[in-house]
Amino acid sequence: MTEKSPKTAKESPVYNLIRASRCYNCDEKQLPGSLVRFQSSTDESEVLCRKCSNLSDLEFLKSGNTKITQLAKKHSKRVVVVMQWSELWKAYERKGLLVESEAIDKTEKDLGFELKDREGKPA
Ligand SMILES: [Zn+2]
Repeated sequence: MTEKSPKTAKESPVYNLIRASRCYNCDEKQLPGSLVRFQSSTDESEVLCRKCSNLSDLEFLKSGNTKITQLAKKHSKRVVVVMQWSELWKAYERKGLLVESEAIDKTEKDLGFELKDREGKPA
């Protein structure tokens, strides 16, 4: 059996909102902490919610553990970088990744334990 390595499509990053906003497409209120896509690079006034960005089936994986990140990347066909504005650094910094829920399940299996702080898991 040969293992196929699926090409991971490069997707533009999403951003963790630091102040409330509204989805430019469906007008749904976006609370701080929501993951959104900016319409134009870094303009926070025009955001697209998770649903409208077609991200609702992806799950947030915090960065920090290289092994977990590598495994999740390997298992997920979609990998989206999550950025957040840092007041301290006055720059966007990487907070983690959005990957397929299934990929995190597989990662947990590989690791042999469950990731405690799974957040943003699709309902
Ligand atoms: Zn929307």
